[in-house]
Amino acid sequence: MLERLLTELGERSDYDAASQCSRCGYCEQACPTYVATGREAMSPRGRNQIVRSLLEGKLSDPSSAEEALSSCLLCSACTTVCPASVPTADLVLEGRRMLREGKPHWIAALASRLLVENPALFEALIRWGNRFKRWGLAGLAARFKILRVLGLPAMETAILHMGETPSQTLREILREQPERKGGAWAYFTTCGTNFLFPQVGKSTLHVLESSLGEGTAPEHPCCGLLSFNYGSVEDARTLARRTIEKFEGSDCPVVGDCSSCVAFLKSYPQLFLSEGEWKKRAEAFVTRVRDFSECLDPKDLPTGTVSETGTVTLHDACRARNGQGIIDEPRAVMRSLGGDRCRELGDGGECCGGAGAFSAMHPELSDVLLRKKIGAIADTQASMVLATSTSCLLQLVRGLKVYYPECRVLHLSQWIENSLPK
Ligand code: SF4
Ligand code: SF4
Repeated sequence: MLERLLTELGERSDYDAASQCSRCGYCEQACPTYVATGREAMSPRGRNQIVRSLLEGKLSDPSSAEEALSSCLLCSACTTVCPASVPTADLVLEGRRMLREGKPHWIAALASRLLVENPALFEALIRWGNRFKRWGLAGLAARFKILRVLGLPAMETAILHMGETPSQTLREILREQPERKGGAWAYFTTCGTNFLFPQVGKSTLHVLESSLGEGTAPEHPCCGLLSFNYGSVEDARTLARRTIEKFEGSDCPVVGDCSSCVAFLKSYPQLFLSEGEWKKRAEAFVTRVRDFSECLDPKDLPTGTVSETGTVTLHDACRARNGQGIIDEPRAVMRSLGGDRCRELGDGGECCGGAGAFSAMHPELSDVLLRKKIGAIADTQASMVLATSTSCLLQLVRGLKVYYPECRVLHLSQWIENSLPK
């Protein structure tokens, strides 16, 4: 557990942070899981109360908290509207760790250990998983419930949800290219971009080179988000220390193109509240971390040159919109290239139901949120929707295919690349 959190009101113990919730209910309508279910336990207020009771040792049946805490999207929409900025998502993660009592699910524990001890083996296993998926073997294993027998129902759902897997990871592609040695920026390869959407990383690099000049794309550890959310905090700390070390020695921006990983990189100081030196190094690192959409100045981009016609809209990643407050930046870029073809979604930036492993762990609730999101996209009559997180990309690819095939989704960097000279 972290035990102490960095909140909008300063550093607080878990208990004090949970106690900041006055139970006013102001956040309820901002919470997608409460709106979808109408259940108090599935609201921010309910979840804060559960975590507080866990901390007080007053929950007679802690397993009853499992559903309420595991079904939180960690979207932080509640914190954004909360007068006291209660960090519900962080508290939910602490509550989940208390329920696990330091024993994560074996597959999460294994992945977390591999990322620390043997990242090359982790990468090789994912590459083989991608191959099995392309050959249809993973789909067969899912259909014949083999993964369910192994205690991996969420993985079964994830495989059934997943579209095509790439034949090469982004790292493999970059290893075949001449090494980049520029100093204008350093690219952070996120796992989603590396393993599932390498074309997004290629587009991001192309756009960064065209607009900011030459940079680097070094090999580096995983940011630690997977370990933090599903494995062990200590593994997340180890990966964070290695990441900071890897990017130290320069003051150029560190740019990522998945908003979830970028948000986690920006939260590094919270991992080191009791380690003075590492906290300082984490704070220095964070001043350099940028979401891809934060690095672009519309003045540096060609204007109105995207070749396709039709309405274009933007889906905010929760981890960009809430917490990081990245709202205007991607829109400024979209409008500079899309002009009056751009339309806003009318859903107030609600979560699409992707949320990392949420869509695999809670497929029915995820589908309720996905259908709402696709409905909002269809209301704009868009033929193109832009996203900035790989989890959202996965979810929207699936949702558009089923519910609104007239529209397709691209990462913002892919869409911008379409406007660049080839
Ligand atoms: S989380 Fe904030 S907005 Fe929600 S009930 Fe608690 S104090 Fe009120
Ligand atoms: S983080 Fe999102 S899903 Fe979780 S309680 Fe807050 S608004 Fe609801």
